[in-house]
Amino acid sequence: ILATGGIFYYVTQRERHPGPQLPHDPSKKSVVVVGSGWAATAFLKNLDTSDYNVTVISPRNFFLFTPLLPSVAVGTLASNSILQPIRYLTRHKSRRVTVIEAEAKSVDPVAKTITFADETEVQGEVSSTTIPFDYLIYAVGAETQTFGIPGVKEHASFMKEIQDAEKFKRRFMDCIESAGFPGQSKEEIERLLHMVVVGGGPTGIELSGELHDFLEDDLKSWYPELSNNVKITVIEALPSVLPMFSRELIDYTVSTFKESKIDILTGTMVKEIKEKSVVLQMPDKTMKEVPVGLVVWAGGNKARAVSVDLMSRLPDAQKNKRGITVDDHLRMAGTDGTIFAVGDCTSTQYAPTAQVASQQGVYLARMFKQLAKRDALLEEIVAAKLQETSTESLEKQHAKAEKLRPFHYSHQGSLAYIGSEKAIADLEFFHHKFSSGGVATFLFWRSAYLSTLFSLRNRVLVATDWLKVKLFGRDLSR
Ligand code: NAD
Repeated sequence: ILATGGIFYYVTQRERHPGPQLPHDPSKKSVVVVGSGWAATAFLKNLDTSDYNVTVISPRNFFLFTPLLPSVAVGTLASNSILQPIRYLTRHKSRRVTVIEAEAKSVDPVAKTITFADETEVQGEVSSTTIPFDYLIYAVGAETQTFGIPGVKEHASFMKEIQDAEKFKRRFMDCIESAGFPGQSKEEIERLLHMVVVGGGPTGIELSGELHDFLEDDLKSWYPELSNNVKITVIEALPSVLPMFSRELIDYTVSTFKESKIDILTGTMVKEIKEKSVVLQMPDKTMKEVPVGLVVWAGGNKARAVSVDLMSRLPDAQKNKRGITVDDHLRMAGTDGTIFAVGDCTSTQYAPTAQVASQQGVYLARMFKQLAKRDALLEEIVAAKLQETSTESLEKQHAKAEKLRPFHYSHQGSLAYIGSEKAIADLEFFHHKFSSGGVATFLFWRSAYLSTLFSLRNRVLVATDWLKVKLFGRDLSR
């Protein structure tokens, strides 16, 4: 009882009542962080805010734990369990961080200003403004790539934001309930219950696995007359799904999907999405129109309009249309070194993953500590020179602080859930590669994700949701 009481006291004191914070200080440099995804959040979490005045600008006032988004789409997890309000994250910082819910509209890399607008439903008198920055951490992520394929925006669901997962769940349950509407023809029932996932990358594969679990664990008992007609098809333009995993794990995934009766069509391209069908180009180049109830588009990412605009302002240095070009220290090419770009908005030698983005955020937070030290030493040198005292030792320290180490990515491996309580993992320990798939990997997947979740609050919420689903099943309400 004493131990429980102690933990309860600690949690309520620390989690609910953060201590006082320093106000903004006009003598400190301003750092503006754009975005609240993996890179931005890792940066904020690790930054010593006593050195700077920090402002965060993001259209959503929370961080979303994207790897568990497919679990929200099928009702395994509640939305709030994988969200972390940004203010919650910055409440223990030594200096107060200003959080502004707004969308970045443009960045002027020469004048060093950023313009942003409040695009939410409710707006005040001022809904657009421009502010200056000393340093900019540009971490706006990417948006879904549709390749201009007709009907994608109008008829498909996406799987990128929390609203996408919520919308998917409503549409999925709507398909099931409509299929159960009295008098529906056999063909219409089959159409309504045909779920097509476009894209055999990790997003598409994880969603298909979760969908299959929902079907097996819950829908079979609640809709016994319909569940046999539910069909899941994954469509992938390339010859194989999950190209970032080893051949062995790709084969394991394909065979698990076969057992789960999930069809994988590789070498097949979606050419158009209509209200009730998808048009496919088959491997032999013939066209086929397939009736569908719901299409999920997980076809990859592209640069956001604000990034395209920013790159167009530096045409000589920013020639790569896929994303922002940065140097070894993550400084945006073509700028004076005060704009740093991190995460999915960049185009680097690394895959655009959460792992890369968060390591970049941590790296920059460390670099900013060093920059603050360097600037402070410079001030001391100036003061010493004015007083005509020796600056030799200070200059040595300053020269050391000037040497910034380049960013180095350490790949910890790839992990994905494939349904039926199985996961696949390509891991690297001490430069040795390990591949594993199965139930043990699933338990590893769960514990890895649980420990990667940002806060105790999220861990408790996710673990409780998993327990609730084990006890009561998934929530079927729309
Ligand atoms: P992706 O780019 O990895 O995969 C998209 C797939 O869609 C591609 O294989 C592409 O060939 C296919 N495609 C595109 N247009 C198509 C069309 N018209 N018809 C058929 N197929 C089409 O996208 P993703 O899965 O969203 O992943 C994005 C990034 O995030 C990747 O770097 C990925 O590694 C990472 N990610 C990792 C995990 C994990 O490790 N568990 C989970 C999610 C995302």
